[in-house]
Amino acid sequence: MLEDKFGRRFHYLRLSITDVCNFKCDYCLPDGYTCDSDRDFLSLNEIQTLVKGFAALGTSKVRVTGGEPTLRKDLPEILAACANTHGIEHVAMTTNGYRLESDIQQWVDAGLNSLNISIDSLDPRMFEAITGHDKLTSILRGIDKALALGVKVKVNAVLLKQYNASELNQFLNWVKKTPISFRLIELMQTGDNQTFFNQNHVSGIPIKEQLLDQGWSQLIRDKAAGPAQEFYHPDFDGRIGLIMPYSKDFCNTCNRLRVSATGKLHLCLFADQGLDIRPSLQDVDSLLLETQLHELLGDKEATHWLQDGYTGGTKHLAMLGG
Ligand code: SAM
Repeated sequence: MLEDKFGRRFHYLRLSITDVCNFKCDYCLPDGYTCDSDRDFLSLNEIQTLVKGFAALGTSKVRVTGGEPTLRKDLPEILAACANTHGIEHVAMTTNGYRLESDIQQWVDAGLNSLNISIDSLDPRMFEAITGHDKLTSILRGIDKALALGVKVKVNAVLLKQYNASELNQFLNWVKKTPISFRLIELMQTGDNQTFFNQNHVSGIPIKEQLLDQGWSQLIRDKAAGPAQEFYHPDFDGRIGLIMPYSKDFCNTCNRLRVSATGKLHLCLFADQGLDIRPSLQDVDSLLLETQLHELLGDKEATHWLQDGYTGGTKHLAMLGG
């Protein structure tokens, strides 16, 4: 079992398989993807060894992310490799939804259990203004398809003062009859987005208070759950989640480790740098990796320092997948 010196256990691996993204979200890659780093991404064999090693140390959930993970042609093989690894009970993916409508069946056949889809606005024009793509209608159809196939769906919206902060009622209306978990994420500062962050960051706390006032109740967190505080209401088919990385004690429940598309272990989303574990992935038995992971975990800090404006080496979240 992977456990750090603060007693936190790590059941959950977020694995980036590419840092390339085709969207231009204003808070992440406003000018689009530019290739300024090594693009020698982990191969399918290296991913197999990686997931096997993590699973041997107690990881039960893998989230495939990016950049935009669906841009990788061998995505179905990667999902299948995760799903077929002994010990992995749950295979999830985070996507912008660009290929959702056309490819969901293929992903499910490969072993995908759940999806996080980013939708920052339910207004098609606002969606296009934020992402640079007129794709909202197709993504919504894709979500219906995913739900019909039995996929668990979470939708992520980054809370943005100048864009969607007034859309809470639209989001709630959607959740009333749609069995998804709709999660509002506080905008995080990164190395590249300081001005945008200063203009758009809003806290999720007033939304939590509003939900509690309106009869929503907070769910108890599962051990493999992500970072959201989740809320349910008897009159709603869906749930609301709040991800508030600026709130006190956010890091106390950290249960995830991240690996970049080039094989760097990130002990925190806002760590100074990734730690190279790629050489260990050449040992297919994954024993080298298991030893290295135990050693590296000793350096995991108690908390990030985002509240002090310290963003580590993270220029934008497409580098690592959020
Ligand atoms: N391309 C995929 C997608 O769009 O979901 C996966 C990568 S994306 C970096 C993962 C998630 O991080 C998305 O939900 C995105 O909205 C969120 N994200 C990106 N930058 C962020 C920021 N500065 N603060 C909060 N969330 C952010």
